[in-house]
Amino acid sequence: MLIDTLCHLSTTGLVERVDEVLVRSRAYGVTAWINVATDAASARAAAAQSRALPNVYPTAGIHPHSSLGWRDSWDDLARVAGDAACVAIGETGLDHFRALSPPDVQRECFIEQIRLAIALDKPLIVHCRDAFGDILRLLKTEGKGRARGVLHCMTGTEADAEELLDLGFLLSFSGIVTYPPNERLREVAAKVPANRLLFETDAPYLAPQPRRGKPNEPAFARFTAIEIARRRGVDLTVLAEETSRNARALFRIPAPQPEIHAYVIGNALYLNLNQDCPTDCTFCPRDTAPRVQGHDLTLTREPAVEEVLHAAPDPKRFDEIVFCGFGEPTLRLDALKTLAAHFKRLGCRVRVNTIGLGDQVHDREICPELTGLVDAVSVSLNTADPHQHAKMVRPRRGGGHEAVLAFIRSAARHLPQVVVSAVDLPAVDAEAVRRVAESCGAKFLGRPYNELGVRRADET
Ligand code: SF4
Ligand SMILES: [Zn+2]
Repeated sequence: MLIDTLCHLSTTGLVERVDEVLVRSRAYGVTAWINVATDAASARAAAAQSRALPNVYPTAGIHPHSSLGWRDSWDDLARVAGDAACVAIGETGLDHFRALSPPDVQRECFIEQIRLAIALDKPLIVHCRDAFGDILRLLKTEGKGRARGVLHCMTGTEADAEELLDLGFLLSFSGIVTYPPNERLREVAAKVPANRLLFETDAPYLAPQPRRGKPNEPAFARFTAIEIARRRGVDLTVLAEETSRNARALFRIPAPQPEIHAYVIGNALYLNLNQDCPTDCTFCPRDTAPRVQGHDLTLTREPAVEEVLHAAPDPKRFDEIVFCGFGEPTLRLDALKTLAAHFKRLGCRVRVNTIGLGDQVHDREICPELTGLVDAVSVSLNTADPHQHAKMVRPRRGGGHEAVLAFIRSAARHLPQVVVSAVDLPAVDAEAVRRVAESCGAKFLGRPYNELGVRRADET
């Protein structure tokens, strides 16, 4: 698991699609984010945004570019910075390259933020362009050995790095380290002690090499991490472990929340086996906001059977055990059968929610294999019209509607209970779905559009 230690999620370009961006980030293994502010308004925005997003941690600070008139917003900034949820003071620092604010004003604003960081005992996130001498001097004179933090988007020399390391600072490398001409910077990154190294995206800016010139996002921190790991001659997993430990210690953040393998709705225990699916339903929130009733079901890898069992320590207290996440459980048929057998041995009722393409995927009838293991299947048919099915459910292999009907008939022959469901959309003829379901020997259930993954109690 990687941590992007600097991204601007509340900035235009990311804020509009933050759910989708974070889903993609998790898929790339980047699973926690420092959401960095650049002025008082963005500090407030980052704080509000981070409250709603797990593993996203906000900062409060005034960027050197925004330092003109900084006193006007200081009280506001200091209040946000003082909130326990705020993990750092930054971005702050000096930028003598673009010099969008007068150098003296930048210095005043930086000094005040150094003092604030010391008073609040929070780390600084320091921005530096063409200002190493000035930055080092102020960190020494104003920091008085008590300022701690990270120099973000490190572009300095080995000598700059040594001085910052002597001050106790960490160094964070952005996508710039991946750009072909920056061999000298890669050498610096290779020499930073393992316990002082971080990396970041600075998204939406500074996309690393494979994405250079395009909008950046936290997922692409992985490319920067790969490059740094290569230069240091370590595995990506080793680098991830080291840098995540550094980030957690510096920002005092907990280990990322574990992925959810089992979750409770009502008095049913739902099991989340995978995030693969043989279809691509138009209404599926899997790639944007895979959440069900507050449960974030994102998986960056498929859990082992033992992990699922570990997440379901007391299954007998539930009315039923349901295989249901934002993936098709029958794709993991062996794991499903092993788990179902375990729960049946304990006397639990077992249900499988499926899109009904298990036979097609496995090229055989799978319901006979589920006999005695599964009490009920809920099949999302969604429409009685094959053309509408192709357009709405979008089976990847085609021919899906007929395959689903065959599966329903097979399930009705081999399993005690089969329920066919349809999402309650205006374009769907629910009565026609009911007729098809009943002709296949199944019951019918319409379900609300916004309750994907959740079945109403009356279904069983
Ligand atoms: S079957 Fe479920 S998980 Fe798969 S694409 Fe459709 S809605 Fe998403
Ligand atoms: Zn910066």
